[in-house]
Amino acid sequence: MSNEELWKAVLGEMELTLSRANFTTWFKNTTIVGRDKNYLIVSVPNGFIKEWLENKFNKKILQSIRVIAPEIREIRYSIGKPKVELIKQDFSKMVLDKELEDKSDQPFDAEIDKVTNLNKKYSFESFVIGSNNELAHAACVGVTKNIGRLYNPLFLYGGVGLGKTHLIQAVGNKISENKDRKVLYIPAERFTAQIVEAILNKTIEDLKTQYAKLDLLIIDDIQFIAGKVKAQEIVFSTFNELYGRNKQIILSSDRPPKAIPTLEERLRSRFEGGMIADVNSPDLETRIAILKQKLIGKNIELSEDILGYIATHIQKNVRELEGALNRVIAFSQIYNKIPDIKETKNILNTYLSAPYRKTSPQSVLKSVADFYNISLADLVKRSRKKEVVKPRQIAMFLLREETKLSFPEIGQKLGGRDHSTVIHACEKIRSESAVDEPLKQELVLIKERVYSSFDK
Ligand code: ADP
Ligand code: MG
Repeated sequence: MSNEELWKAVLGEMELTLSRANFTTWFKNTTIVGRDKNYLIVSVPNGFIKEWLENKFNKKILQSIRVIAPEIREIRYSIGKPKVELIKQDFSKMVLDKELEDKSDQPFDAEIDKVTNLNKKYSFESFVIGSNNELAHAACVGVTKNIGRLYNPLFLYGGVGLGKTHLIQAVGNKISENKDRKVLYIPAERFTAQIVEAILNKTIEDLKTQYAKLDLLIIDDIQFIAGKVKAQEIVFSTFNELYGRNKQIILSSDRPPKAIPTLEERLRSRFEGGMIADVNSPDLETRIAILKQKLIGKNIELSEDILGYIATHIQKNVRELEGALNRVIAFSQIYNKIPDIKETKNILNTYLSAPYRKTSPQSVLKSVADFYNISLADLVKRSRKKEVVKPRQIAMFLLREETKLSFPEIGQKLGGRDHSTVIHACEKIRSESAVDEPLKQELVLIKERVYSSFDK
């Protein structure tokens, strides 16, 4: 395999595990410029990137190189002239629309409408219905048939990568087929950022007026407004404004309204006042149907065996399922052949193990703090605040389960606590989670965050 192909494969792999902004930041204008028996020389644009690749990504890069070229033991990074041509060819969109690259996490082929923020690829046609999402799907279709009047607001919740964004954008796309209707899709984080900016620019009234003109407002991942007073206030007033005129509101979250901490009561009761539907993990049959759906237009045919193999081994999260499928597709493009079962197994093994599945104590701590909406400092310090006691026990438990830290090391990370305190906390959470369904669910959600925050 040529250096070019080898690096292309590495980039393909990194692209799958990193956000777009991260990927372009660290891998733009990198290329292999030299190769010896046991090492490669990779050229990078500057010292800053060299340092990052050496310290943060070297292991992962080496790992993915060694799948293809096991003899390579080392990578040397050299600051040099970027080979823009190669990158341009392979990732032309990425290089060309430099404007977008630091702002968006959308996939490269994203076709995002400038006015509505909707991505055309999310349609009802491309959504596979299973028992895991039947209710949510039906509610979404219901909204398109009777906007503003049937289920208002519609609140979808469920874990990461299970199709919430897909469904709510499908509603948006359907509704905006009628050009007279004003639709806006916005992730809650961006919504909050807009508000902060508008406050600074003293344009908050303009912003409110804009929201009030909408026929359909879709706010994704609404749990992010928890604890943000001004954002909640604007959501509340916008909500009342729209609701009062039978305009439709759709919200999504990783958990039901009552489980969002520090959400104002008045908002919670508004969110609970319409239709609430959950999405869960798909069963095997649905996972296979999703894989088939994702293959449409991809110009590659995979046998039932292979699809079955992928679907059997990736169960929780549709985004991961898609990621695995993309790996298999990438393989077939690079080697110009359809992988057999054994090769598929290899491809999935590297996908399922590190680097994708790796985490760090810091990421566990941050995920716990974020989930409970407390500061990292409160979580790890000796504070005795009541609201941090349980999160801290959960942090201890997850550090034990998800990282290699010992009990004393965990105690160290959490304000110098004694190892017996840690053991006690771990046992407590373990036994409680066996019988306490909401707690079990919380642990699942936090773990999802831990692993999806890998590149943050
Ligand atoms: P969430 O918002 O719940 O985290 P997304 O809507 O972003 O999840 O879904 C992750 C990926 O999985 C998307 O690419 C989406 O198209 C796909 N997906 C999830 N569920 C389905 C489904 N039932 N049919 C087809 N694609 C799906
Ligand atoms: Mg989403």
